[in-house]
Formats: sequence, structure tokens, C-alpha cells
Amino acid sequence: GKADIECALVVIGAGPGGYTAAFRAADLGLDTVLVERHATLGGVCLNVGCIPSKALLHAAEVIEQAAHAGDYGVEFGKPKIHLDKLRAYKDKVVGQLTKGLAGMAKQRKVRTLQGVAKFVSANELEIAAADGSVQRLRFGQCIIAAGSQPVKLPGFPWGDPRIMDSTDALQLAEVPKKLLVVGGGIIGLEMATVYRALGAEVTVVEFMPQLIPGADADLVKPLADRLRQQGVAIHLKTKVVEAKAQKNGIACTFEGESIPEAKLFDRVLVAVGRSANGAKLDAEKAGVRVTERGLIPVDAQMRTNVPHIFAIGDLVGQPMLAHKATHEGKLAAEVASGEKKEWVARVIPSVAYTDPEIAWVGVTEAEAKAKGLKVGVGKFPWAASGRAIGLGRTEGFTKLVFDEATHRVIGGGIVGVHAGELIAEIALAIEMGCEVEDIGHTIHPHPTLSESVGMAAEVYDGTITDLY
Ligand code: FAD
Repeated sequence: GKADIECALVVIGAGPGGYTAAFRAADLGLDTVLVERHATLGGVCLNVGCIPSKALLHAAEVIEQAAHAGDYGVEFGKPKIHLDKLRAYKDKVVGQLTKGLAGMAKQRKVRTLQGVAKFVSANELEIAAADGSVQRLRFGQCIIAAGSQPVKLPGFPWGDPRIMDSTDALQLAEVPKKLLVVGGGIIGLEMATVYRALGAEVTVVEFMPQLIPGADADLVKPLADRLRQQGVAIHLKTKVVEAKAQKNGIACTFEGESIPEAKLFDRVLVAVGRSANGAKLDAEKAGVRVTERGLIPVDAQMRTNVPHIFAIGDLVGQPMLAHKATHEGKLAAEVASGEKKEWVARVIPSVAYTDPEIAWVGVTEAEAKAKGLKVGVGKFPWAASGRAIGLGRTEGFTKLVFDEATHRVIGGGIVGVHAGELIAEIALAIEMGCEVEDIGHTIHPHPTLSESVGMAAEVYDGTITDLY
């Protein structure tokens, strides 16, 4: 049939991958359409992910700091939580950003369309609006950036509002007296941190033997210790085998090494991972290969098996992180506009915005061991950092992993307050091919937590032992 809309490039999905791709493509002169099924741009990250979670974590941090200010002679009363105001604050933060994106799209003359896109051929999409109307769009090239969604564990009574995924938990409908968090990964622990600070009694169950299984165990320990001190019950190597909705709560049955005392919860957050949205686009009608798990395989230029159709972000695979999606989006747009480029990032940093934060990048110590790599490790404990002592947060440490033969930095990890802000230096070091001595010879400002990176580079051979 005849197309209602024609464009050089269409981008499906307006998350960090999609909007970045669309903006970059428009800047490079491509006539670009951005299709998003939701009313606001920004995808999961801005609307129900990175941004609202961090706005709530900010409140949690203030509550926690106030609770400990008595240590240095400043006493605050018990916090009064006005949930409506906190929710409004979070919504304002999100709104500011999504409105900003809409403005940026307009400025660049990126046409935005609201609706659900599906392929009808290798050059055509059908876009169904909420009112049932359908438009046909003909494109020269396409970037698929449809993202991912929370895994809904089967067997849970999902119709019951007391069973939540991360999107529901961010709605902040109430602070439950007893909250069960299923899954001790980054998202589960961030939300546990928020709800604990707001006054919930939190239980976390994790199937694996460690919280945040992708990070080194030594990085996770200070976080686990602090959560336990705060009264969060953590149960490892354990899973929920049944969750039944009852009038007086969600009754859970567990299986594993460490069965929680509580069996009845006021709310349950299921945070056991995310699944890619690749299988929901009728991509096979365009000839695009999609795996059984909904992932879309791509090459180093982000092209699918159909060369004029690209895919980026969460639906091309792990790590499912916004900054990965953004970089892939830029690359796909540049390749689509004719630039000869490839994806060459060596490393992608990960951050848990818990309290303390955990951040890591590149090869972990566990990975190095598993692969039999010969590495050296420089580790600097924050107990020797004047700044950390002044903050009353000495549980952190910074470590660098480097190749024993060349001394090139290949990985790093930080646990402690603001670890997420500090990890970028190590990412840069790895990308630049730094030797560990280069970091040691770089003058870091005193007294900062960033000095701990410089110190980790120096302590491995025992030259420096403290930096008060
Ligand atoms: P998404 O952001 O998932 O966007 C895809 C968009 O496509 C969505 O808006 C969707 O509505 C739209 N769409 C899908 N199908 C169609 C269709 N057929 N037609 C039209 N539109 C469609 N990452 C970080 O890096 N840092 C963090 O701190 C962080 N915190 C997080 C916290 C939470 C609670 C969650 C859930 C995630 C968090 N993430 C974080 C992950 C991050 O949100 C994702 O990695 C990121 O959003 C992926 O971007 P994307 O562009 O691939 O897709």
C-alpha cells in the first residue's frame, strides 16, 4: 500500500539508545522519524529506570545521613515522610528531562510519532496509535531500539498490586511494613535501599551465593555488611518457590540454604532481570534475525543481518545499561549516515547506586582468576583516606587490576560513597592503555576520594601506605 509517512531513517523506541541515535542522525543530515509508544521520550531510563531511582536514592541518602549526624553532634528528629511530595519530586525530575528531550527533538526537526511500531516488510512499518488508527511508514534505513522489560517470574499473582516489578516499585504507592525483594542484583538492592530508608522492613532473597553476582565478592561485602547492620535481612542461595495472595499479605514459600524468618509480606518486589523486546516487532517480516530470548544479533557496526536495519541498546544484549545504549545509538546513526566506523569500546563501567555504591569496570579479579590471567592488584583501603574518615565512611576501598607483564590497567573496582563518580577515571585509564604507574604519577587533588585511585596504583608495590 501507499505509505503515509516517508523518511530516510526511522528509529523505533525513544530510550537512551533511540533518542541519541535519532538526534545524531538528524545532526548528520538524515531526515529522521522517532517512533515511541509512550507519550514521553526517554524510554525506561528516564521514565522508569535510572533517573527516578536516583531521585529516590537521593532522599534515602539524606535520611541516612541525618540518622548518623548525631555521631558528630548534630541531631535531627525522626524523619517525617510525605510520600506525595517525594513522588512529586521524582516526577518533576523525570518531567524536566523528558520535556527537555521533546524540545531537543523539535530543535533538530526529528519527527516524533506516538504508537507501537511493527515491521510489515524490510522497508515498511505499521504504527498503531492508542486510538486504534494505523499509519504506514516507509523508511530507507531503520534503527531498532525497543529496549527491554522486567522479567515477570511465573507463578506470582501478578494481577495483585502488592506484587511489583521495578516500574511499580518506583510508583511509590505506599511504604509497606514488610517488603520482600526477590533478586539481589543492582535494581533490587537500589529499591531495597530506598524502601528501607523510608521505613520498610526489607528482606532480600538471592538465588546466587552473592549479592550483585557480576561484581567481585570483596566489593560486595561492605555493602552487604551495611545492609545487615541496617536491619535488612539477606538470604543467599535461596529462592521463592511460591507466592500466594492472601487478604493479610503475600504468603511466600522459600527453598534453599537460608530461609527467611518472615513468610508473610505486605509487598513483594520482583527484580530478577530484564528481557529483550526484540521478538515483539514482527522483525521476521523484515528478515531480521531474532534469538529465542528476544535479542537481535548485530555486528561491530550495529547492523543486523539485514544491512540497512540496525539494532542498539538493551535488545542487543548485556550489559543492559543506558550508557552502552547511548554509545551504540551514536555509532549506528553515524554508520547509517555513511561514516565508516566500528564499535571499539574496550570496557563498559557498571554502577550500583546503593549505600555504599559499588562500581567496577573491565576485568574483575574473579574473571582474571577464572581465565588464568597473570595480574597484579593494587588495593587502597579508605580507612587510610582522610576524606573518607571525615565523611565517617571508611568501609570503602579502591582496587586496580593490571597485567603483571605490561603493567597495563585492565580492570578496577571501587566500593564506597560516590564510587560511581570515581570509576570513570579507571575506565579512561583502560581505554587509554595506561600503565598502572601512569595513574600513580598523576596528581590527584587532596583530600578527595579520587586520591584513592592514585593510591591504589602506588600501593601495589608497597611504596606508599597512607595519605592522611
Ligand atoms: P529503553 O530505555 O528500554 O527504551 C526502549 C523504548 O522503546 C521504550 O520507551 C519503549 O516504550 C519503546 N518501544 C518498545 N517497543 C516499541 C514499539 N514496538 N514501538 C514503539 N516504541 C517501542 N542503566 C544505567 O546505565 N544506569 C542506571 O542507573 C540504571 N538504573 C536502572 C534502574 C531501573 C529501575 C531499571 C529498570 C533500569 C535501569 N537501568 C540503568 C537500565 C537502563 O534503563 C537501560 O539500560 C536503558 O534504558 C536501555 O535503553 P534502550 O534505549 O535500549 O531502551
